[in-house]
Amino acid sequence: MKLKVLGCYGGNIPGHGMTSLLVNDTVALDAGWVSSALSLREQVKVKDILISHSHLDHTCSLPFLIDNNFSHPGFNLRIYALREVVASMKNHLFNNLTWPDFTSLPNDMTPVLKLIAVEPEQPFTINGLTLTAIPVSHIVPTAGFIVEDKKGAIAFSSDTGPTERFWEVVNKVKKLKAVITETSFPNALQDLAHVSGHLTPATLDPELRKLKRDVPVFLYGAKPKHLKVIKDEVQSLKRRNLRFLVQGKTYQF
Ligand SMILES: [Zn+2]
Repeated sequence: MKLKVLGCYGGNIPGHGMTSLLVNDTVALDAGWVSSALSLREQVKVKDILISHSHLDHTCSLPFLIDNNFSHPGFNLRIYALREVVASMKNHLFNNLTWPDFTSLPNDMTPVLKLIAVEPEQPFTINGLTLTAIPVSHIVPTAGFIVEDKKGAIAFSSDTGPTERFWEVVNKVKKLKAVITETSFPNALQDLAHVSGHLTPATLDPELRKLKRDVPVFLYGAKPKHLKVIKDEVQSLKRRNLRFLVQGKTYQF
């Protein structure tokens, strides 16, 4: 599986603050930085996007991805998310106020955008990938995703505070090659992490004890202002196989 990091916070570079991963050039996990990170030619290949939750740092490039490619022959986009997340995007993003409702454009019969609700823990397939949404513990309804192909699988928690079911499911994934999870705030901002449903290095450590598999863990989501402190605190956990996701890098799993 080819995984390109389009956006993952992590520094004073374009795309900081945004989250988006691209699998095999065609399926995106979250869409904080798709239209900005990809050329127009690359953008039209992205036909399917899994959205973990409605927060803008995971969705804000969707309007421009559609707008940029709306008139491209045959362009259409399918967005998969939990039912509550679909409702939020319909009510607050594609609502004909914030942005046009592309689920009925150019017409109701052949819309350019389809919003597809997925059930937790019910696998579905796209382009040879098997995908499963697992609810996690953020301040809005949020799912992490398991992404599997014939060669391997990765697990992406998306934004979450301490959580349980995600790790239980991840521990059973055959061919698991990597886990991607978050660490948003330094330990000094633990209270803020707690009320906003995020992890600090101090709460990451017990989360990683729930992972019973010996695979590399990649971190995203460090707030750019606190990146150096977060990196130092993660380093002091002295965990083997724990590293930060690198924006712009392509990984093979
Ligand atoms: Zn969030």
